[in-house]
Amino acid sequence: MIGEQYLLLPGPTPLPEQIIRAMSRSMINHRGPAFHDLLFEVTAGIRSIYKTQGHVLIYPSSGTGVMEAAVANFIAPGDLVLAISIGVFGDRFASIAKAFGAQVEKISVPWGQSADPQVVKERIDQDKSKRIKAVLLSHNETSTGVVNDIAKIAEALGDHPALFIVDTVSGLAAHPFNMDQWRVDVAASGSQKAFMIPPGLGFLAFNDRALKVHKQINNSRFYWDVSTGLDYLQKGQTPTTPAISLFYGLQEALHMMAQEGLDSIIRRHAFYRDLIRAGVQAIGLELLAQGQAASCSVTSVIAPPEVGANKICTAMLQQFNIVLAGGQQNLQDVIFRIGHLGYVRELDLLAILAALEISLHKLGYPVEFGAGVKVAQQRILEHHDKTSG
Ligand SMILES: *Cc1c(COP(=O)(O)O)cnc(C)c1O
Repeated sequence: MIGEQYLLLPGPTPLPEQIIRAMSRSMINHRGPAFHDLLFEVTAGIRSIYKTQGHVLIYPSSGTGVMEAAVANFIAPGDLVLAISIGVFGDRFASIAKAFGAQVEKISVPWGQSADPQVVKERIDQDKSKRIKAVLLSHNETSTGVVNDIAKIAEALGDHPALFIVDTVSGLAAHPFNMDQWRVDVAASGSQKAFMIPPGLGFLAFNDRALKVHKQINNSRFYWDVSTGLDYLQKGQTPTTPAISLFYGLQEALHMMAQEGLDSIIRRHAFYRDLIRAGVQAIGLELLAQGQAASCSVTSVIAPPEVGANKICTAMLQQFNIVLAGGQQNLQDVIFRIGHLGYVRELDLLAILAALEISLHKLGYPVEFGAGVKVAQQRILEHHDKTSG
């Protein structure tokens, strides 16, 4: 099939040509002045995207790596940890804490819904003796396409001393995230979602309150140890060999993001969410996430049961070279997921809707051709009028 593949997964996401080119440069000495400058520049860039005055360390790792770093550095074995899970990645955070010896109490929310701040508040209010040491939560739950209201959950935590630890791997730079203002103590993110670069970098952010806990607890750690990371950062270095090519890519991505502006980027993602949801509904399909819980990074579509999600994904791939994600675990073959974060254009979303209409038709599901595309076109027109673009 001619042309590039449409990679519309919730990570890895498409790469801009200029980022690919930036990453093809030669290696430099990671203990020399050029890397020193690069490290300071990108660390400052990540801090501004997290909206934090706190610390940021960049690890060569996948997103899960920095989730583990968050646990290894800030949670001690035996600590009582409240893990609020709304899907696969929330479960993963709980599993990591368990693997490191924490006593994990889980609040499991039905898949497709977001965490209820009132439920969290009730549990926190019960904890008179302040036994809970940390609260784990995913910002954007990629497996269901649901976003949690971090500000409201933070409010529910009130002045309870537990560290608030957030997985924002697929949330950051696609949704608003105000780390300091929302009183998030530790946050984890990664390169392959909204940052438009390949997998392989993890971004761990934490404040002084978390650092104080880190210094007090006695946990096994080496690779992830933030004390070592901070010592090296002072010298403009990383403890181990950094993924230099990915740093080049990150530098370029941060330039592009600064040019577009973080607020515009976030508005663009919200527009994509609204566009794709309206289009899919006009085709006659249902959505897993409702209202304010709907993610700006990924949309979960409930497949007609008589067709099944897997067949739709296969048809989109074979006939149009479009890569969509299936459902995970309980949602396998029930939903398919359209990623719309990072380097995605409105034109890509129009193409998806058009191809989806044809694929569904071929699979025997009745579709009025153009129904989804038409609604999307109208939305784009309105959006252009509003932004006079
Ligand atoms: C992608 C993702 C991760 C990390 O996954 P890796 O495969 O380890 O990079 C963690 N949490 C969420 C919410 C994600 O979307």
